Order: sequence, then structure tokens, then C-alpha cells
Amino acid sequence: APQDFDVVIIGSGGAGLAAAIQAHDDGARVVIIEKMPTIGGNTIKASVGMNAAETRFQRQKGIEDSKELFYEETLRGGKFKNNPALLREFVELAPEAIDWLENHDIELSDITITGGMSLDRTHRPADRSAVGGFLISGLVKNINRRNIEVLLETAVSKILYEDGVVTGVEVVDEYNDARILNARSVIVATGGFSANREMVVEYRPELDGFVTTNHKGATGSGITMLQEIGADTVDMSEIQIHPTVEQTTSYLISESIRGGGAILVSQSGQRFFNEMETRDKVSAQIIALPEKSAWIIFDEQVRQNNKATDEYMAKGLVISAPTVHELAVKLNMDQSALAATMNRYNQFVTKQQDDDFGRTTALRHPLNEGPFHAIRIAPGVHHTMGGVTINTDTAVLDSQQQVINGAWAAGEVVGGIHGANRIGGNAVADIIIFGILAGRNAAAFAKR
Ligand code: ADP
Repeated sequence: APQDFDVVIIGSGGAGLAAAIQAHDDGARVVIIEKMPTIGGNTIKASVGMNAAETRFQRQKGIEDSKELFYEETLRGGKFKNNPALLREFVELAPEAIDWLENHDIELSDITITGGMSLDRTHRPADRSAVGGFLISGLVKNINRRNIEVLLETAVSKILYEDGVVTGVEVVDEYNDARILNARSVIVATGGFSANREMVVEYRPELDGFVTTNHKGATGSGITMLQEIGADTVDMSEIQIHPTVEQTTSYLISESIRGGGAILVSQSGQRFFNEMETRDKVSAQIIALPEKSAWIIFDEQVRQNNKATDEYMAKGLVISAPTVHELAVKLNMDQSALAATMNRYNQFVTKQQDDDFGRTTALRHPLNEGPFHAIRIAPGVHHTMGGVTINTDTAVLDSQQQVINGAWAAGEVVGGIHGANRIGGNAVADIIIFGILAGRNAAAFAKR
């Protein structure tokens, strides 16, 4: 006989785990279904942090921020394409989501900045390590403490929908056996489709051949399954390429390196753009270079302030040299050009004004402490802003903007929040804020 649940959660990324914890704590009988052999989805790869304005941690550090400013900057970054109601809710609930994490022993107390933001509002672990691993391990501890069941290597193949209401899911397990799980609510938290090349190229033909930073499970199956029961989609062609991806490994070089003070330099040894602009704009400038790639360059001080660099060193992605001149030689770059670029940038830092490209943020300190470091980067497919449509309760909507009873969605599977370009640090905020909300509402619906 089929098993019965109040809430089935599809996907074990940040959105799915947060939803499961909340639904469980609201009294629902929950299960998480994950098609991959490991927990964490693409969330585990998240690097920089979680954006929120007017948080306790900002106040502690004397950072004066406002929800309104966060809203405006996200909207501008998204080219005014963001769904205003969802964005409003996102900004409103962000500080509560930071508190929710803290109440679940996941403290994001250090704060940095990402491209397109005017001040420090990207919350990350106190030791400045990458946010993804920290977040997933903290969420998993909460899952285990509650004995919430996670079925690994089990894929949902179909969402069951009868007489105007969702009734459960069909799953295929690791032995290829299909079975049915009954549920009163289904939360789709399956992530984006960056790793589904066919789907990416269908919506954006010019992205054929681009590497992706995403894990293999980012196939967009949740979108397809929801479409099969009538869900509408929005912004499907809004696909973000991230400017700094190491191409031989598809490894993402965190935006926090630039946020910590690094610069981007072309093969001819020149800066070419404001490194702290939004991802779409920085990517476009790199693609316009003759080599279609660039170098991210930083000094030892930046490196020591950013734990992510340990990983890049260990993976052999970093080229280092004791002096700028020796670094230039290793990069096959004109020595005096690079030295002049670094000197000029350092003067801009000293006077806190970038005369060449108008960079106004993360002019942290002069890059003058050896050894000096460089990583070759170029853009890669990183985030799919489009997805299924939801209302502000996270209920999935059909093409008539009507709720599909019992279907909920949260995280990258959802479209509309980020508009035409997602700001760094807003994906982690998205999955936690809307994950919690989906868990709460799906649990309440199941008990109605
Ligand atoms: P988000 O950031 O929105 O939480 P993630 O990419 O981190 O999304 O996580 C989504 C998870 O959903 C991934 O672990 C992925 O393997 C899983 N997933 C995707 N499609 C299915 C499916 N059909 N059945 C089960 N799990 C799925």
C-alpha cells in the first residue's frame, strides 16, 4: 500500500531542507525525496553568502541599511523585471530568515558585499568560509535531530493531481522500482536547470558550449513536472552567466574575492571594467575581450581574508609569484602593463575613487602584499532566474493565475523574484525565506 504523508518535499537543497524543518515543526509528517546520492543540491556549492537588510548582525556592526534600499538595488540589478510582490516579500522576510537560521544554530554573523549592492549586507559564517557547505551541514543537523526521513537516489517522476488537488508523487528508487507516495501537500524544491544543456539552449541558443558551475542534478525536472499539471512559467530565457568561472574545472571563483578587493585584468594587463558591477555586465565585458577570458588578480592580504582561496590553491587553480613582475611573466603578460595597472588601482584605493571605471565598493586596500595571485576565468552558466510562477504564499499558479491546490514551490525552481539578473547573495536568501514559508503553508494546508 502507498505510504501517506502530509507533506512530500522534492529536493534536498537549501529550500527543501528549510521547508522540511519548518513543516515538521508545524506538526506535519514529512519526507524529503532526493534523486542524487548526496544531500545538498546546488546549494552546497553556494559561495558568497545570504543578503538581508536591517538584521541584528548589521546593527551590531553599525551598518545602516534599509529594506527599501535592498529592494531598489535588487530591482535595478534585475533590470526592473522582478515580480514586485515577491520581491517585496523577499526583502521584508530576509532579516527574519537570518534569525530563523540563528535559532537553528546556523549563524551568519560576518558580512560582506556583492556586485550591484551599495553596502555590506551579504551574511556569511563568522570564519568567512563558503556559505553553502556551512548552511547544508547546519540544516542536515536539524533534519537528523528531528529524524526527518530523506530518500536518496530516489527521483520523483510525476506529481499526481486529481479532481483539482495534488494527491502525491510517483517516485522511482535506486533499484528502478516505481511506487506512489500519498501526500496532501507537495513542495517542489528541485532547483534550476543550468545543468540541462538542451533546456538552456532551447531558451538561449547563444549559450551553447558554455560550461556550467552547477551540479549534475540541476536539470529543471520540477519545472517540467509542474507544467504537466498546469503550472505557468515566467522569465525562462533569463539565464545568468557568472563572470568568474575557472574553465578547465568549471569551478566558480567566488564573488567574495572581488568583494574582498580583487581586480579583473585582461591578457594585455589592463583593467577593463568596474569589477563590482552586476554579473550580467561583468560577463558581457569579459566575452567582449579578444581572449573571451580574463585574470582575477589579488594579493596575499585578500587571500588570507578569504577562506575560499584555500580550496582554489588546493585544486591548483591559482598562479602565484612573489612580485607583480614575476606574476606577469608567469601569466605571459606585459610586465610593465600589469605593474602600471596595479599601481594605478592602488592609487584609486588610497583616494577611494576609481577614475577609470567608477568602482565605488570594495576598494578595500592597496594590492601590494606579496605573494600575488591570479586565476584565469571566463563566464559560465550559473543560475536560471526563470521558473514556475507562485503567489506570495508560495502556492504554484496556473496560466489563469489560479492556485494549483496542494502544489507549492520554493527556491531556484521558481521564477520572477530575481528578474533579469540575480544579485550575488540573493539565491541563498531566496531559498531560506521561501523554503520556510513553503514549509509553513504546506503544513497548514495539509492539516486543513
Ligand atoms: P535550491 O537552491 O532551490 O534549494 P538546489 O539545486 O540546491 O535547489 O537543490 C535541488 C535538489 O533537488 C537537488 O539536490 C536535485 O538533485 C534535486 N532534484 C531535482 N529534481 C528532482 C527530482 N525529480 N526528484 C528528486 N530530487 C530532485
